[in-house]
Amino acid sequence: MTRTRKDLRCSVCGGNASYFSPALRRYFCDEHFVDIIVDRVRRSINKYKLADKLKHVVVGLSGGKDSVTLLSVLQRLANEFGFEILAVHINLGIGEYSKHSEQVCREIARKLNVPLLVLNLADLLGVTLPQMVKKLKRPACSICGTIKRYLFNVVGIEACATAVALGHNADDIAAYILKNFLLQDLSAIKKHGPATDPLDSLAVGRVRPLYEVLEDETRSYVKAAKLPFVETTCPFKPRRYFEATIKKALEFLEGEVKGLRLDFLRRIAKNLDVYPNPSEPLRSCSVCGLISSAEICAFCKLTLRVVGKPLGASVRQRVREALASLGLGWCKKSSKSS
Ligand SMILES: [Zn+2]
Ligand SMILES: [Zn+2]
Repeated sequence: MTRTRKDLRCSVCGGNASYFSPALRRYFCDEHFVDIIVDRVRRSINKYKLADKLKHVVVGLSGGKDSVTLLSVLQRLANEFGFEILAVHINLGIGEYSKHSEQVCREIARKLNVPLLVLNLADLLGVTLPQMVKKLKRPACSICGTIKRYLFNVVGIEACATAVALGHNADDIAAYILKNFLLQDLSAIKKHGPATDPLDSLAVGRVRPLYEVLEDETRSYVKAAKLPFVETTCPFKPRRYFEATIKKALEFLEGEVKGLRLDFLRRIAKNLDVYPNPSEPLRSCSVCGLISSAEICAFCKLTLRVVGKPLGASVRQRVREALASLGLGWCKKSSKSS
């Protein structure tokens, strides 16, 4: 919700206000809007004890408003907390949309002076996402989800990162949780807290620093901070899907009960232990050695079906090589400190 009426004044400095924070129910100028979002994330980092997890952090960068907000805010907090950041962009090969997204990500990384690793699906697997969708006849979002989860984990593991940070905003997270509750998939709720733990050498931990930042606020943040971002939506995004309906319902409820979404998320974060762990035991994929709930992991299974052989192990090797040329040195640092 962006209001730009001339008579509105920034509640900090009294200057012209361009942005409204629905969480604080106050107006701000560009500079102070950026400040209040950075401050909200700083508080979340302290409250949810995320600082150690963000020490050597891989940030998933799609180029959309949420991931751009995440990267910018973490970069602004890097000195204060001692964070080192690697941004990772995955080019899925969705025609002009992917070309544009990669361009935007390169521009942001340059602007923020953050190292960027671009992984190109066509290079890594020999196929693009649209080709996989055609072959598998599965919804694009489910294939894309499997690929992104896998590749971010590979980068995290191979780079010796302390965590992967995801740009999920408060509206996204509240909608996932409510959806899982409605479907009574209670063990999935645990995965949507401010942080999920790593699992030895199988999976890197995940953090969601925008846990208490609303979607309206990331939309305003990128404009207030004058950052480029991808405004077009992915051509594969379905027009109707359950999470979007739940988001609308939550917005409606918020109109009746002010502060509902963030209150809900704060309570969930306190109650995460109440929810059960996933029932299937987790083990190591026999092909790539990373986290799996079956003999071979979802990514190795997927690539086996598309190109005739499981590609997890070779993808890990390729990522290792790409990381070596960036020279982060996180693995040396983590073996020194342990
Ligand atoms: Zn101001
Ligand atoms: Zn595997």
